[in-house]
Amino acid sequence: MNDMLHARCSCGAVRISTSGEPLQVSWCHCRDCRRQTGAPAVVWAGFRSEQVAIDGAPKRRQSSDHVVRAFCGDCGTPMTYEDDRLAGEIYIHAGLFDEADHLVPDRHAYVTSKLFWLHLEDGLDKFDATTRGRN
Ligand SMILES: [Zn+2]
Ligand SMILES: [Zn+2]
Repeated sequence: MNDMLHARCSCGAVRISTSGEPLQVSWCHCRDCRRQTGAPAVVWAGFRSEQVAIDGAPKRRQSSDHVVRAFCGDCGTPMTYEDDRLAGEIYIHAGLFDEADHLVPDRHAYVTSKLFWLHLEDGLDKFDATTRGRN
C-alpha cells in the first residue's frame, strides 16, 4: 500500500494526507478516547510523522501527561493523538479517512477499560493497556 490516504474533519478545514503503510491500526478502548470522542471505542491509524502532511491548523490540547490531541477548531472533529513517549509518531482517527476500509485494525488496546456490552470476536491480539512500550 504505497498509495496516499486522505483524511479530513467534518467541515474540511483540516485535511491530512499520508503516504505508505501505517505502523499499526489499533482499536482503543480507553476512557480518554471514549470521552474525547463520545464513541464507545475508536480506531487509530499510526504513522511516522514524515509520512503525514497536515493542511490547516487543528487546535492542539494536552489531554494527559504525555498526550496531545488535535481537533478541528471550526467543527470540533477529533483528529490526532501524539504521545511524547512515542516520538516521531502520529495517530489519526481511522474513521476520518476516505479510504477507511483499507485501514483494517490489527489489535485492541486497553481492553481492561472496554465496555462490557462490546463483544470482540475478531481474534485480534488484546492488550490490557497500550499496545506499544512507552520509553
Ligand atoms: Zn472542521
Ligand atoms: Zn485511547
